[in-house]
Amino acid sequence: MNSIELAGVGMTSQRTRERLIQRLIDQGIANQAVLDVIRMTPRHIFLDEALSHKAYEDTALPIGYSQTLSRPYIVARMTEILLSAGPLKKVLEIGTGSGYQTTILSQLVDEVCTVERIDPLLRKAKDRFRKLGLNNITAELSDGSFGWDKHAPYDGIITTAAPQAIPEGLLRQMAPDGILVIPVGNGQSQDLRVLKRVGDSSEFDEEIVEKVMFVPLLGGLSR
Ligand code: SAH
Repeated sequence: MNSIELAGVGMTSQRTRERLIQRLIDQGIANQAVLDVIRMTPRHIFLDEALSHKAYEDTALPIGYSQTLSRPYIVARMTEILLSAGPLKKVLEIGTGSGYQTTILSQLVDEVCTVERIDPLLRKAKDRFRKLGLNNITAELSDGSFGWDKHAPYDGIITTAAPQAIPEGLLRQMAPDGILVIPVGNGQSQDLRVLKRVGDSSEFDEEIVEKVMFVPLLGGLSR
């Protein structure tokens, strides 16, 4: 685990942050490491200034280009599920967006690879990683519908945009006993699904966790 000290940034909202943590606990988030990392990570720097006063509310918030930063509960939940597979070395995130989920992950696993299809969002996110001194993140402009072959296999894969069906490539890029956490569905109904690869076989145990609502996983790049 890379323990970085982010608490100094935006100490002013410490009480509001504590309230958010309590809310996450009340909603069933139990992994202490996840709660600690969310507590220490300034969410407001991932938002435009006009929205930063809402940063520690448990709501999804717009980040431009019709995209959203997921609500803290769902970030916590997906991260907690991912970590339930045991200590993870390499994780792939599809949909960097603001870089908030990436930043949370980077403090809990050895290495995070992340892809985003909208260039201006990726640039801003990379800038934030640099400012926060996070040096275990590899981020690239790429269509994550195919995963990211270059750095595969991954012990964990997390998708923060919803495809209508699970992309084949993601299954192929999972390490033995690897885990995939992915929202699947359309604009009306989505399920958060968890797939665990059984050893090094091509079998997967699958579980539906809860109803969710993510932006769609789209093909192609946007510069
Ligand atoms: N994890 C982000 C959530 C951003 S919303 C955060 O913490 O802010 C989901 C993101 O997925 C959007 O930025 C969207 O552009 C991106 N996305 C959608 N389809 C994609 C694809 N095929 N490949 C890569 N990124 C994609």
